[in-house]
Amino acid sequence: MAEFEVIKRYFAPLSATVDAPDVVLGIGDDCALISPPEGYDIALSSDTLVADVHFFSDANPEDIGHKALAVNLSDLAAMGATPAWFSLNISLPTTYAVDEWLKPFCAGMQALAQRYSIPLVGGDTTSGPLTITLQVAGWVPKGQGLRRSGARLNDRLYVTGDLGWPALGLDQLAQPKGMPLRCPDVVLQEAEIAYAVTRLVKPTPQLAFALKARDYLHSAIDISDGLTQDLQHILTASQLSAQLDVDALPVAAPLRLAGLNTYWRALNFGDEYQLLLTAPAAVEGTLLSIADEVGITLSGIGSLRRVTANGLSITAVDGAPIPVGGYHHL
Ligand code: ADP
Ligand code: MG
Repeated sequence: MAEFEVIKRYFAPLSATVDAPDVVLGIGDDCALISPPEGYDIALSSDTLVADVHFFSDANPEDIGHKALAVNLSDLAAMGATPAWFSLNISLPTTYAVDEWLKPFCAGMQALAQRYSIPLVGGDTTSGPLTITLQVAGWVPKGQGLRRSGARLNDRLYVTGDLGWPALGLDQLAQPKGMPLRCPDVVLQEAEIAYAVTRLVKPTPQLAFALKARDYLHSAIDISDGLTQDLQHILTASQLSAQLDVDALPVAAPLRLAGLNTYWRALNFGDEYQLLLTAPAAVEGTLLSIADEVGITLSGIGSLRRVTANGLSITAVDGAPIPVGGYHHL
């Protein structure tokens, strides 16, 4: 199929079916035209997914489409930005049956795109090893973007949802591929297997909570590379240390009985797309009611401390150091 036919059949509908007043012109011209609302900053983020690095190339294309957009929306959530539009650069192997692959792939993206009313405004289509780069844009009131550097001394530390399921999910997918398991001492029930896989392949961006809570938060990050590593990013940017209440960490139920090594490997695996947040203690009640309202859990997992002469650290309540670990991209 010719490139322009692919664009017309699969990508243009994602531009046309969403009504977005900020998008003056979508797919079909040399550029898209965007008219940003007055008084807002534009939040821009982009993520590349490479087959067999970030997802298995034989995965369900609908899930791949979902995840490609979901991980980008998660970055907007972590900035407190309302999603506005997205673009897609895709490189497809010439050996692929284009229709069979692109139809479900676009359906996966479309479902999320419609939920957040964001049109696909443009992109590029080439052939080559399967690689997907999405860019998303959102709006955030001027100066209100949630920066990693915004955390303050004595802020409470919170996390949405529960952690560890994606690592357990990968073990389920990795088994037939002969990859070493991350959590070999964890045995899941049938229903837990399905849930763990869903949490890995169909993550939910925590936008509803982020947008309602934004004005009460000091800083936020989405957990893509692992709990301690992503926490470290906030600490480094804000020049603070953290005391983690390990007993308060919301971990997936099957991990509670696991050995310590497995426990931390799962928590530091990443691919969670839960939000790690800091806020003054005074707004705790407000944050908990927002979480309740949007139907998620929010856990207080520690607080931010002064950096001592020994340097920036993450310690447990008893003062024991917690080693930082997580996914490394390079
Ligand atoms: P140009 O040669 O001017 O770069 P193209 O022929 O690459 O234009 O693309 C034609 C139109 O289709 C442009 O508006 C472009 O943004 C859009 N487009 C191309 N590929 C994609 C894609 N993968 N997703 C969304 N829009 C796309
Ligand atoms: Mg082009």
